[in-house]
Amino acid sequence: MDVVTLLICSALVSGIMALFMSALFVTSKEESFLLDWVLASFFFFISSFLGLYGTIFELSSLIFPSMNNAFYLCAHALLYTGASKLSQSKHKLRMVALLFLLILLVQHLPVLKESIQARILIFYPLITFFNLLVIKKLWDARHLDYSKSFILLGAAISLFVIQNLIRGVASLFPDAQLPLVSPDVVKFSGTLSLIAFIFLITLSMTVIVNWKKEVKLKKITMTDSLTNWSNRRALDIHASKEFERAKRNSNVFGFVLLDIDHFKQINDNFGHKAGDNALVHFCRTIEEVNRQYDYEFRLGGEEFALLVSDTSEHAIQQIAERIRLLVKAQQIETENGTLSMTVSVGVATSSAVDSTWESVLNRADKALYQAKQTGRDKSIYLA
Ligand code: GH3
Ligand code: MG
Ligand code: MG
Repeated sequence: MDVVTLLICSALVSGIMALFMSALFVTSKEESFLLDWVLASFFFFISSFLGLYGTIFELSSLIFPSMNNAFYLCAHALLYTGASKLSQSKHKLRMVALLFLLILLVQHLPVLKESIQARILIFYPLITFFNLLVIKKLWDARHLDYSKSFILLGAAISLFVIQNLIRGVASLFPDAQLPLVSPDVVKFSGTLSLIAFIFLITLSMTVIVNWKKEVKLKKITMTDSLTNWSNRRALDIHASKEFERAKRNSNVFGFVLLDIDHFKQINDNFGHKAGDNALVHFCRTIEEVNRQYDYEFRLGGEEFALLVSDTSEHAIQQIAERIRLLVKAQQIETENGTLSMTVSVGVATSSAVDSTWESVLNRADKALYQAKQTGRDKSIYLA
């Protein structure tokens, strides 16, 4: 294969990547990191195209290689700014624009103008630096619930770093004979690895975008939109897991069930909107109680549940009382005056006789019923 054919392939692959990434961006405009990656793909394309153009027409003026290098290096920088946005860091596109100008200018310095070696010594480490920054940013974002989708991109970039190091050294010592590697391979390896790299990162980015979307959708189906607490569907999942875990470790878990008292009257007296606002206030107040529980759920209108793991009869009753008193002390300003509310609470903990988590929840429900029947604004524990 000759250099021109390879360069055509490289321009084609990066062109396809640019089109593909643009299409991905159109369907996921809310993902700001994609904009950086779309730009990166165009920069790779322009750089490949300039390389091809310069080779076909044998352009030896410096403007071609220097533009080519600026686009190529900034494409790597844009991979980094995109990854940086994934880990919720600040916008750095301006830095890339500056870098672009700097690379263009610096190549006109006599030292760099006359020596390929000098350019390699500056540009290769710079590319590796940006590649390593991408890996660092992906590592920083490992807490995200779609972080497994970063593995492919991390692997592609790591491979590229390794080949870049080998090629950098090989280009610095062109006369050295590498074992098992023919000089032809060294000559073509740059373009070949770039083609493979562009192909791999396009795949990796698609995986990230789709995985992120799926996690987001799953979260939406599990979350109550008014209070942002989990819904009943999520309760099924978390409670089953907690039940198995508690059984395995011989731990105790429990439920705190909460039902706001006479909430219908609150709606009637202050309006439905104030009622909604009160529900949100109620949830934010409970979140302030030192997180001694693990999950919070909105089961229905004005009914809520807390799932408390690794607890005891005494500890869970304390949590329930603390919440009841906090809710009672809360004053909410509305258009129709100040609103306050009370809550009835039912509490139960798991025991050896429970064969399902539902039986613990049923006990808490019975306790809540008793609290309602015996005057409201109280918490009752059922052993
Ligand atoms: P109790 O002390 O027996 O619990 O009395 P209650 O009025 O709180 O209970 P009931 O179940 O009779 O009424 C619940 C009310 O909660 C009725 C409904 O209009 C209101 N509600 C349910 N969901 C929402 C909501 O999302 N927003 C508002 N504003 N009100 C809601
Ligand atoms: Mg109620
Ligand atoms: Mg109710």
